[in-house]
Amino acid sequence: MTMRTATTREPQATDWLGLLEDLVNTDSAPDDHAGIDAVYGKLAPVVEQLGFTVKKLATDGGPDAMLARRHGSRGDARRVLMVGHVDTVFARGTAQARPFTIAGERAYGPGVADMKGGLVVILAALSRLDDAALAGLDITVLFNGDEESGSVFSRPVIEEAATGQDAALIFEAARPSGAIVSSRRGVARYRLDVTGRASHSGSNPQAGANALETLAHTIIGIQDAGRRIDGATVTAVLAEGGSRPNIVPAAASVHVDARFDDDRADQAVERELGKLTGEGPVEGTVTRLTRYAGRPAFGRPYTELARAYTDAGRELGVQIETVSAGGVSDANFTAALGVPTIDGLGPSGGRAHTDDEYIELATVQKRASVCAALLSRLSSAASPH
Ligand SMILES: [Zn+2]
Repeated sequence: MTMRTATTREPQATDWLGLLEDLVNTDSAPDDHAGIDAVYGKLAPVVEQLGFTVKKLATDGGPDAMLARRHGSRGDARRVLMVGHVDTVFARGTAQARPFTIAGERAYGPGVADMKGGLVVILAALSRLDDAALAGLDITVLFNGDEESGSVFSRPVIEEAATGQDAALIFEAARPSGAIVSSRRGVARYRLDVTGRASHSGSNPQAGANALETLAHTIIGIQDAGRRIDGATVTAVLAEGGSRPNIVPAAASVHVDARFDDDRADQAVERELGKLTGEGPVEGTVTRLTRYAGRPAFGRPYTELARAYTDAGRELGVQIETVSAGGVSDANFTAALGVPTIDGLGPSGGRAHTDDEYIELATVQKRASVCAALLSRLSSAASPH
């Protein structure tokens, strides 16, 4: 098997397939800090063997991140950030119930596409770089453990690592077609809280102020706002209200998921939702808006970097398309800082977050080759610094 053959850069050849199996079989939900650490423990020796210095970074309340760095010897070395999240959406016990398996051309298991396959692509790509390529690259690899819960804790670490980089490469899975991701919509999450006044719904309903009735108007307003704004979708996704069957509801709330192409559309959504706040249509009710999570849009493709990647693929006989994706990733953060970013550099795969999640196994090594070829191109290009 070629992937088990030693090269000059690998005194002990890494068993990439074995590493993938081991990673998939290690559960690592974002709140499972021991699981996250266990994955770091499997990655660290491999990057260290490639000449990287590894350190853990604490986050403010979330799982640690892990940073690996290797400096090139050339003065004009290009700075490249590679990002992979080690967490999955699957709770502890999933891997035991549904471990890594191979059937035909595909590999299955929790997180195999999202994105443990991508972690292996990062390491396998680095292992393919020759001394000339390494001399011209300052490489930072950032692993984080809370992407699936919004990267709330690792965002500052990602943004710090991305600052001043010439390129950011994100290793979410390639699309089932093999396409990489050159832009992503942004996301914002809001909650609208309505407060009213409780009252007995039988003996004294007129003394109440029905928060649920105002919420009903508000939800229609939210959906209407979404239809008015270009470049955005706005969806009321989760609502609750009332307390008992015989009480006029004093409180009600709705969560809103907004997706947008750019900052302008993001601001338009916030403005429109803001118009639904204040005194409600039902006298005595008041609505408040809270924006509690989000990621900026990765709106504009960095075409030069995307083309360098697809050209590197073509040279290796791999035809790669670029697409825009609706979902978010850590690429949203690096791209929004103005760092040229491409995403979807992991193996081709699909059905993430389901029991049928898979990757095309052969694309692990193919994508590692393309990534190594891209890095070699970046290394030989003159640095703007
Ligand atoms: Zn992911």
